[in-house]
Amino acid sequence: MRSFEHVNATSVQEAVKLLSVQNARVIGGGTDLLAVVKDGLLPTARIVNLKTIPGLDQIKADGEGVRIGALARLADIAGSTLVKERAPSVAAAAALVASPQIRNAGTIGGNIAQKVRCWYYRDADRADCYKRNGSYCYAVFGQSDLHAIFDGAACFAVTPSDTAVALTSVDAEVVVVGPKGERIVPATSFFIGPDKDYMREVDLAQDEIITEIRIPGAFAKQPSVFLKAAPRRAIDFARASVAATVVGGAQVVKSRVVLGGVSAVPKRALGAEAYLEGKRLTSDVIAKAAELATEGAKPLANNAYKIRLTQGLVRQALTRLAS
Ligand SMILES: Cc1cc2nc3c(=O)[nH]c(=O)nc-3n(C[C@H](O)[C@H](O)[C@H](O)COP(=O)(O)OP(=O)(O)OC[C@H]3O[C@@H](n4cnc5c(N)ncnc54)[C@H](O)[C@@H]3O)c2cc1C
Ligand code: SF4
Repeated sequence: MRSFEHVNATSVQEAVKLLSVQNARVIGGGTDLLAVVKDGLLPTARIVNLKTIPGLDQIKADGEGVRIGALARLADIAGSTLVKERAPSVAAAAALVASPQIRNAGTIGGNIAQKVRCWYYRDADRADCYKRNGSYCYAVFGQSDLHAIFDGAACFAVTPSDTAVALTSVDAEVVVVGPKGERIVPATSFFIGPDKDYMREVDLAQDEIITEIRIPGAFAKQPSVFLKAAPRRAIDFARASVAATVVGGAQVVKSRVVLGGVSAVPKRALGAEAYLEGKRLTSDVIAKAAELATEGAKPLANNAYKIRLTQGLVRQALTRLAS
């Protein structure tokens, strides 16, 4: 049994103050944090409950865009008419997370800030893995089926969050509040790769809170899709996923093609995006874009299958956007 103090915050400002003690952690739905604490992966002295702060779970229109409170539950996002209409890929990604029970408890803030699911990291006997402050990556010479094919450095764990991939594809911004006030971080820099800091997944200090996610008007109401490949239809993390958005219909003016399950962060397929600009989404163009999406991949011993899997998902996603 690990003991910790549990405090219900009543405002964002109070929550930030409560986080000023060492090893204080924020809790949303608790579906990831409690497992992490129980397994001793993060020392925890105090848990600050955000669910008692009124209004943080709202989903609202914002001009042409949408604002999603960090405490909005995944089930509410998946079922929201506003999100389905203005950011279909985000609603689809929320609907594909885990299981109905987890979507009913889990929040979007917790989903994008969750810890990685590398099976070595989550194993109590592997306390010397880099991400646990050690000096070894088991995936490099061990079972690497679920690991990164892009941008691996010391750590090869992939982003586990489905919504992070979709949010990146609509140029979402994450609103973060800490002792120095509010800052707005684009999704593209909110998620951190091992080249920057392999101990952290997101640009969030211990005493900072995500309060809101904003989807700006430029990508809202544009057709977007999220597709996920996982061996099981529920309670399974993505082996690979793609979120794609196209502005301009079949004649592409601007696009986002973002890959999940293949890198530590949602990976923008910049080569594919540049190639698509100004083109019609014909089957040849789609096939070439899918090929470009995995350019530069460097698989480990057991995960080369992710290259063709990702290419197939990109083809499917763009084909849907073309029709
Ligand atoms: C069996 C199982 C299957 C799963 N499958 C999937 C899947 O397929 N796809 C997927 O995307 N996820 C999956 N997950 C992960 C699940 O979606 C997350 O556990 C959930 O979304 C986390 O939300 P939460 O509100 O419960 O977060 P919590 O557990 O409360 O918190 C998670 C982390 O986020 C931090 N945090 C929470 N809210 C905030 C905030 N507002 N500001 C700052 N930090 C915050 C916490 O401190 C903690 O570090 C699965 C989980 C389980 C247990
Ligand atoms: S991939 Fe990352 S989390 Fe997994 S064993 Fe290697 S260093 Fe640890």
